[in-house]
Amino acid sequence: MKAIDIRGLEKTYKGGVKALNGINLSVEEGDFFALLGPNGAGKSTTIGIICSLVNKTAGNINVFQYDAEKQEVEAKSCIGLVPQEFNFNQFETLYQIVINQAGYYGVPRNIAKQRAEKYLKQLELWDRRNARSRELSGGMKRRLMIARALMHEPKILILDEPTAGVDIEVRRSMWKFLKDINQQGITIILTTHYLEEAEMLCRNIAIIDKGTIVENTSMKALLSTL
Ligand code: ADP
Ligand code: ADP
Repeated sequence: MKAIDIRGLEKTYKGGVKALNGINLSVEEGDFFALLGPNGAGKSTTIGIICSLVNKTAGNINVFQYDAEKQEVEAKSCIGLVPQEFNFNQFETLYQIVINQAGYYGVPRNIAKQRAEKYLKQLELWDRRNARSRELSGGMKRRLMIARALMHEPKILILDEPTAGVDIEVRRSMWKFLKDINQQGITIILTTHYLEEAEMLCRNIAIIDKGTIVENTSMKALLSTL
């Protein structure tokens, strides 16, 4: 089954910047997929539209069997998003941040507590659960964003430049974590401008440039052409 299916997606921002020129893209369930491209290519715009955070100009997106526009709530519940920008409530503890996220999705409180412990432990944040996000390093904040995105146990995890500004040690442990959860069945889509990152992790890849998909292939096939 397709986890994401994008047909003819176009985006022109107010002011006239044409960010996407009719892209077609699909990601199979269980895949580890990279959307690779230089800054300004349209990666964040694509993700923003998939997650219903940015309005499209034209085209269609399906998230599993749901139309992302007509069945927005169902489509969104399939997705956990790790955005590029940190956007935590400064007054909440790490524990409260993840628990509250589960609350937005209607996860019962006893289950939310179990998941908070599970994901904060897996992401090596459990010892810091009573800290506030401003006290965390960049790498810890990034891991907290991942824990938060998993609290409603989405079928797809989407990460926008997940290791930007993260040191090599943390990057490696994040890569391992992402590989592990992918092996457990979650579909992962990430954007990156590092070919190396895509190479380390991904089975399939699309390259986007100036709002157009210029390549869409397996990582293996791409590497054999270099
Ligand atoms: P990427 O994530 O690949 O760096 P983006 O999707 O952020 O690319 O941007 C694609 C294009 O759209 C760029 O030319 C960018 O300047 C433009 N853009 C992005 N967001 C906005 C916005 N809110 N308003 C106007 N133009 C935007
Ligand atoms: P409630 O009775 O409303 O479910 P709890 O007893 O779960 O409240 O939690 C009270 C406060 O302690 C909340 O701010 C919650 O976020 C925090 N809290 C609860 N369990 C833990 C935990 N295991 N680690 C850290 N903070 C916790």
